[in-house]
Amino acid sequence: MSRFIFITGGVVSSLGKGIASASLAAILQARGLSVNMIKLDPYINVDPGTMSPFQHGEVYVTEDGAETDLDLGHYERFADIRCSQSSNYTTGRIYENVIARERRGDYLGATVQVIPHITDEIKNSVLNSTNGADIVLVEIGGTVGDIESLPFLEAIRQLGFEMGHDNVLYIHLTLIPYLPTAGEIKTKPTQHSVKELRSIGIQPDILLCRADRPIPVEERKKIALFTNVTVEAVIPFVDVDHIYKIPRELHEQGLDEIVTKRFGLDAPPVDLSDWDEVVSAMQTPEHEVNIGFVGKYVDHSDAYKSLNESLDHAGIHTKTRVNIIKIDSDFIETDGIECLENLDAILVPGGFGSRGIEGKIAAANYARIHQIPYLGICLGMQVAVIEYARNVLGLSKAHSTEFNPKTPDPVIALISEWLNYDGSVEKRDENVDLGGTMRLGAQVCKLVPGTQTRKAYGTEEINERHRHRYEFNNNYLQKLQDAGLVISGLSIDNELVEIVELSDHPWFIGCQFHPEFTSRPREGHPLFNSFINAAVEYNRAKKP
Ligand code: GLN
Repeated sequence: MSRFIFITGGVVSSLGKGIASASLAAILQARGLSVNMIKLDPYINVDPGTMSPFQHGEVYVTEDGAETDLDLGHYERFADIRCSQSSNYTTGRIYENVIARERRGDYLGATVQVIPHITDEIKNSVLNSTNGADIVLVEIGGTVGDIESLPFLEAIRQLGFEMGHDNVLYIHLTLIPYLPTAGEIKTKPTQHSVKELRSIGIQPDILLCRADRPIPVEERKKIALFTNVTVEAVIPFVDVDHIYKIPRELHEQGLDEIVTKRFGLDAPPVDLSDWDEVVSAMQTPEHEVNIGFVGKYVDHSDAYKSLNESLDHAGIHTKTRVNIIKIDSDFIETDGIECLENLDAILVPGGFGSRGIEGKIAAANYARIHQIPYLGICLGMQVAVIEYARNVLGLSKAHSTEFNPKTPDPVIALISEWLNYDGSVEKRDENVDLGGTMRLGAQVCKLVPGTQTRKAYGTEEINERHRHRYEFNNNYLQKLQDAGLVISGLSIDNELVEIVELSDHPWFIGCQFHPEFTSRPREGHPLFNSFINAAVEYNRAKKP
């Protein structure tokens, strides 16, 4: 039977609960235990697919095409697991299931209530999503005290009661602020947060105390006394300069030892050598490059979480310090392309909506003309195709029908059907709900021999994740190829253009999928490594 660790948050949000949970999973894995991770999100959206990246950060896409919370990205990057549809449950999804069952008459006339029907649905979702792992870590989004998290907290309280002390453990992540005027750290918010948790029947076993400085043992003792937690289990979670240092930090604070002891697991000693290698590679770069990141949400770093991580991973694996120069594509439209001078490479990430689109097209144009390495991801590939059609093929009004439905040359357009992750055929038309019309999840792509992309990946087939509605329009395929655009990746049925590149350019690749979802710190990702290597080369060639 799986053991469960429930992780809640207190005092304020954004304390890094997802990263702390994922780091603990990484340590437990490094002790030979199998883990699985689940995120419970108290908001009412059925999934984050329709939520703005401004507000909620990136939508992370799993292999099986679930649009999920960005914390699942941390889970996959830290722990060697594949998340899926059953890794993320929101209030909306739980209620949707319960209401569908009520409509079918499954409750046999009962009054359907939060307790027990909603809480049972939450418990069953968790219990059915263990994947048979030794330890399942379940993170509850939001902060204790929020009205909307109550059913989730009640459900995990019940699970603790039902499965017993030896099988369930509660971790509460809190903040220990430092007050500069008093010159002291303050434990009161933590005391109150635990009080709140205990008032709904959950006694935390471990407190992870987020702080910007070490927490003296006297203060830890005080927290322990007020919260009924042993002093060893009041664990300082002090700021570090890089997230991949956290597994070692938490291990050194004894976190995994408390967990394995409590569950009575005889786990081998920890081996964190691969994390140490990641950290050491990060700290000893041999090159440095400036990558222009031309997007719409550039001031919201969470909006491109996986992409920023992927560039870091590539830096680790190519021994390069990768500086990301954020460039708002609106700014290119108003102030011109001078901001693209002196970069070592240009990246245009995925995106939706027409704002800043001409700025992105101008960035692709600049990279093509000036022979600067260019990586276009999803929308970034689409703008590269539009740019090529306009400026090389001479179709000056070429566009995507997403931005100009009346364009005479829709080089990017909606297509009516495609093959899904599970082999089923998905049909799409313009009248379907916004949330449900995307090509989502991992799909196999064949790489064309002799291309830059094939060389970068070093393999014939890849399996990368999609999240988009619009596609390369095959009616323009021949013309674009005749004009010199190289198609370097095709869907398995040869129907969809997945990757384009340029032959008369040192490194220019646009891909319809999102490679950032499969990049991992310990392994890196071939496309990003190749892109950063190209930037290093470009930078070297620039020097006198
Ligand atoms: N907006 C484009 C589409 O829907 C690109 C999406 C993306 O970049 N993820 O096809």
